[in-house]
Amino acid sequence: MNSRDTELVYGLLLENGYGKADSAENADIILFNTCSVRKHAEDRVYGQALLLRKWKRKNPNAVLGVIGCMAQNHKEKIFDKLPHVDFVCGPANIYEIPELIKKALSRRGHLLALDRRQRPNVGQPACRESDVSASVSISEGCDNFCAYCIVPYVRGREQSRSEKLILDEIKNLADLGYKEVVLLGQNVNSYKSGRVNGFVKLLEDINKIKGIERIRFMTSHPKDASPRLFKAMRDMEKVCEHLHLPLQSGSDRILKRMRRGYGTAKYLKLVESFRKILPGSSITTDIIVGFPGETEKDFDRTYKIIEKVKFDSAFIFKYSPRPPAKASGYPDDVPPDTKAGRNQALLKLQENVSRRINESLVGKNLEVLVEAENSPGKIETLWGRTRTNKVAVFGGELNLLKKLINIRVKSVTPYTLVGEKLS
Ligand code: SAH
Ligand code: SF4
Repeated sequence: MNSRDTELVYGLLLENGYGKADSAENADIILFNTCSVRKHAEDRVYGQALLLRKWKRKNPNAVLGVIGCMAQNHKEKIFDKLPHVDFVCGPANIYEIPELIKKALSRRGHLLALDRRQRPNVGQPACRESDVSASVSISEGCDNFCAYCIVPYVRGREQSRSEKLILDEIKNLADLGYKEVVLLGQNVNSYKSGRVNGFVKLLEDINKIKGIERIRFMTSHPKDASPRLFKAMRDMEKVCEHLHLPLQSGSDRILKRMRRGYGTAKYLKLVESFRKILPGSSITTDIIVGFPGETEKDFDRTYKIIEKVKFDSAFIFKYSPRPPAKASGYPDDVPPDTKAGRNQALLKLQENVSRRINESLVGKNLEVLVEAENSPGKIETLWGRTRTNKVAVFGGELNLLKKLINIRVKSVTPYTLVGEKLS
């Protein structure tokens, strides 16, 4: 979501006559697009922005902005620690950035743009990083208020963008030659939740757009995922067979304290149903370790469920309190060492699981959308993704870019497939 916002802001700046600098030192404008989901990300912004004091002093035309979720979270407090910042702008106000830059250049002191108005029905001018695969926002904000999570406070309540805007944006992407769209929302399954099957209907409409060959989406909340969605995924040829289904914890007691709205039994049933309806598919997840009150026993349950489900990959996070989220009022009672140990244990386990799953793909033929050139000097000159969202590298000519090709998997790591193109 944040990467897509960066593309949006970048597009806005290009539209307003700015261009890309060749390095940070040579830039006149530096914006930090920030995340506040975990504390570590915020600490890094303070650290990095502090380093820019000299750059700011040297260049009288320099403009420094902090934008995004952390801006919404810390508001004017950012100026206390970082007085050389010119403006602080929340995620709902990013369309004001060209104006804020102009104001900052005429030296009006510290500027704040934080009214948390939502922006679901505005267009999406974006200068995208890829010319093959494009992220498209289908909803903003979130209504779920999971106990650990700051998103509803910084991105506001859930609002779906209109089908028309989404479909127009994707038709335009198809005209520009994009082959894949990744639909983004904190909980895509509740798109237009007032209507029956709002999300499935949207997928059906996108599936008809000529030129688009692949459709992905994230994130699916387990409380709103259903076999109805999985069958729709199976029946629409462009929808890829990958589900990002954050579990968060394998302990029912902790899931309840997290206010996730499902238990492990429901989660396991969803996994079973998904794999039955879509054999050969992949499932990825998010896990938090060290949530307040998480005992060894709770952690053990998470460990066991990861062993049992065998996710293709997992993001594993150490819990950090995020006021004003509800759990920030609970004692953060899992010591940092214990959190770190649990994090390491799960990373190691998941690495083994991912390796074994990937090893089972050696010798198989898979469809890959060729996304870009690989790092220079590599024998495998290109990379792309399988339908199951695995990164694959392989040799081939540049004219394969943007094409769907078949590769045979020759070897693997836990994170990458190495293949050869089949003619
Ligand atoms: N809407 C998505 C998640 C968005 S945040 C969903 O519900 O799945 C991405 C991930 O960050 C979450 O899935 C969670 O695993 C992690 N996360 C959120 N708040 C956190 C916190 N306070 N500490 C550690 N990890 C957190
Ligand atoms: Fe946060 Fe929960 Fe909403 Fe995801 S569903 S953004 S974790 S509150």
